[in-house]
Amino acid sequence: MPPLMNTISDFLPADDNMSRMIHAAPIGVCATNADGYFMMVNQAYCEFYGYQEKELLGQHFTMVVTTPQRKALTALHDKCFRDLAAETSGQEWEVQRKDGSRRTILAYATIIAGQDGKPYKITYINDITDRKRLENRLDYLAHHDELTGLLNRRAGLARLTSEKKRCHRYGTVLCIAILDIDHFKRINDTHGHDVGDDVLVEFAHFFMQGLRNSDSAVRLGGEEFMLIMPGIDKEEARQAIARVCEEIRVMRFSPRRLTLTFSAGVAQCGCDPSSKESNDTLIKRADDSLYRAKNLGRDTIIVAP
Ligand code: GH3
Ligand code: MG
Ligand code: MG
Repeated sequence: MPPLMNTISDFLPADDNMSRMIHAAPIGVCATNADGYFMMVNQAYCEFYGYQEKELLGQHFTMVVTTPQRKALTALHDKCFRDLAAETSGQEWEVQRKDGSRRTILAYATIIAGQDGKPYKITYINDITDRKRLENRLDYLAHHDELTGLLNRRAGLARLTSEKKRCHRYGTVLCIAILDIDHFKRINDTHGHDVGDDVLVEFAHFFMQGLRNSDSAVRLGGEEFMLIMPGIDKEEARQAIARVCEEIRVMRFSPRRLTLTFSAGVAQCGCDPSSKESNDTLIKRADDSLYRAKNLGRDTIIVAP
């Protein structure tokens, strides 16, 4: 335990007004020594973390940090003192309050020389938890279909692009399947749009739970879905979709216990980087196969040549 300094004037110019200003600041401020121990915490800092000043002074600053981040933050703290960096740019961290609740802060730090000539680190913290939650929510909404929770079309196409890049890089195959529920309009017409929505949600959830971790399910629009299946060839993809077909056939959807079938078109993307195929042509090949499946009477899977 380092020798405890009780007031900021021990390492700032002894100016009562300065000390008062810092303690009354609406933003959380703390000072730590080179070993990472709290030398000063202002009122806003204590209120934010739910501790009294005396509970923090002399303690190591990692007591307010979540366990997974302790190592990284200690390393950053040490680096600040090594480089005597005047300022670090704003950094986001997960922190933990006395009551165990987690918050996200944006922290800025600066190194100052104390009265004793030693360096101290002053850290200013902003609580950005609510902003972070909102950002995460907006990010989720931007990438997911609101009704089913699957990736939306835009995010699905971006995922397809990145999966194709990966497959070209590692020389592996990738298949997509486009699925379209058969005669879905009849469900809406007979039972109403809300029942149609329930069916779409159940259908999508059924898919999601059966996917491998590497697969992605996308709602392209309406009652049309795309599966992205890296690492399997078109025959394996056909078999996987055929199994889903069988399972769907015996399932009952919505409280009205409706049955349904779907048609699918499967297309394989080659692993040869010289024959890179755009999303549009890959999807068109799967779409053409789907169209043929519909023409063949539905409840069918067609694999593109
Ligand atoms: P096919 O076998 O040829 O695919 O016939 P279908 O009736 O499934 O296809 P069609 O394209 O004629 O109709 C699709 C219907 O899906 C029409 C549209 O009202 C309905 N639909 C699209 N989006 C939604 C949605 O979000 N909720 C509900 N309940 N219905 C939707
Ligand atoms: Mg349909
Ligand atoms: Mg359709």
